[in-house]
Amino acid sequence: MDYEAYFSKSIAALKDEGRYRVFADLERQVDNFPTALHRSGPNQAREVTVWCSNDYLGMGQHKAVRAAMHEAIERFGTGAGGTRNIAGTTHEHVLLEEALATLHGKEAALVFTSGYVANETTLSTLGRLLPGCVILSDALNHNSMIEGVRHSRAEKIILKHNDLADAEAKLAALPKDRAKILAFESVYSMDGDIAPIEGYCELAEKYGALTYLDEVHAVGMYGGQGGGVAQRDGVQHRIDIIQGTLGKAFGMVGGYIAGSKATIDFIRSSAPGFIFTTALPPVIAAGARASIEHLMASNKERAAQQDRVAQVKRRLAELEIPVIANPSHIVPVLVGDAAICKQVTDKLLSDFNIYVQPINYPTVPRGTERIRITPGPLHTDEMIDHLVASLDAVWEAFGLPRSREAIVTVAA
Ligand SMILES: *Cc1c(COP(=O)(O)O)cnc(C)c1O
Repeated sequence: MDYEAYFSKSIAALKDEGRYRVFADLERQVDNFPTALHRSGPNQAREVTVWCSNDYLGMGQHKAVRAAMHEAIERFGTGAGGTRNIAGTTHEHVLLEEALATLHGKEAALVFTSGYVANETTLSTLGRLLPGCVILSDALNHNSMIEGVRHSRAEKIILKHNDLADAEAKLAALPKDRAKILAFESVYSMDGDIAPIEGYCELAEKYGALTYLDEVHAVGMYGGQGGGVAQRDGVQHRIDIIQGTLGKAFGMVGGYIAGSKATIDFIRSSAPGFIFTTALPPVIAAGARASIEHLMASNKERAAQQDRVAQVKRRLAELEIPVIANPSHIVPVLVGDAAICKQVTDKLLSDFNIYVQPINYPTVPRGTERIRITPGPLHTDEMIDHLVASLDAVWEAFGLPRSREAIVTVAA
């Protein structure tokens, strides 16, 4: 086989479709987020405003976090030096897991190298080892959960997105004593809608299912201490396993689950993605804990984020720029075509110094291509004015449709 020709042809097809991915070469600047230096070629660099970061609250540059990391690197050095079982569990890992358990009101927590690994290895391990297990998984679950379910080889039932009646019908059709996992997210990252968590808890209790909740896009941002939507809604004690990331609002890297002592001990003892890999560097654990502890005590960042989000949504609605309606911090602006979406974001970058990444298939269904805007506490009024005026100008330039109605659903 001519491997090179095969790879080149596949890439050419992506380019034809307008969904070839170009990574923006960014240099983040401490104390200046969400401004960053964008390099578009040798000796070509410009300051841009980042409007699509998952460093939702700017914790990636927070003074207390930086200080904790400086101190940790001087005290403990760089890498962990092993897997968690063989010399890699440092005291910083122990402290981080205690902080995460406290954050979610659980007995224990377990840290992984990423949120992706946390989902993939936890779900695949549960599905593989719980006898006769069936996994009921929301249709819009993240790829990391889908892959976990697939690798478990357990029976899989796809649930209509955020649809309690569908979930109940499918649960009721299963034998009461059969092992079942109800797997869903709180904030869905591309549409920004939020699951009916309490309803799922009621169903799980009625039909004997284990609840598995991905709070990746909610931890740090919702609830009195940043424990997520389940904390905000007062139902976190009813969720069996809460999964989260250290890489988004906490501004670090890594993932975790929190749950009962026995659950965590079981995953710790049997999940390959936890066991067979080097532990995170202690400096990462120290920084993550500083970030978590800051956001547990401070509402300032959450309140400012909510304020910025509300402003951007209101201003875009006034201009009839089509935003997918949702109750979260995510502002999805619908374009509906991969090539145009790419041209729109290229123009925002080249003419207006605004960086937003086009979101295309397979991240979202074809025909629902969009710009995903994530306003944060550090976006100023001037930045918002500029964003809104720039989008207005680009909408005009491309003759893109305006919509008086908020877009309620984009399911393809
Ligand atoms: C980003 C993401 C993950 C993976 O988390 P990482 O820490 O980035 O690996 C898991 N679930 C959802 C819903 C995500 O958006």
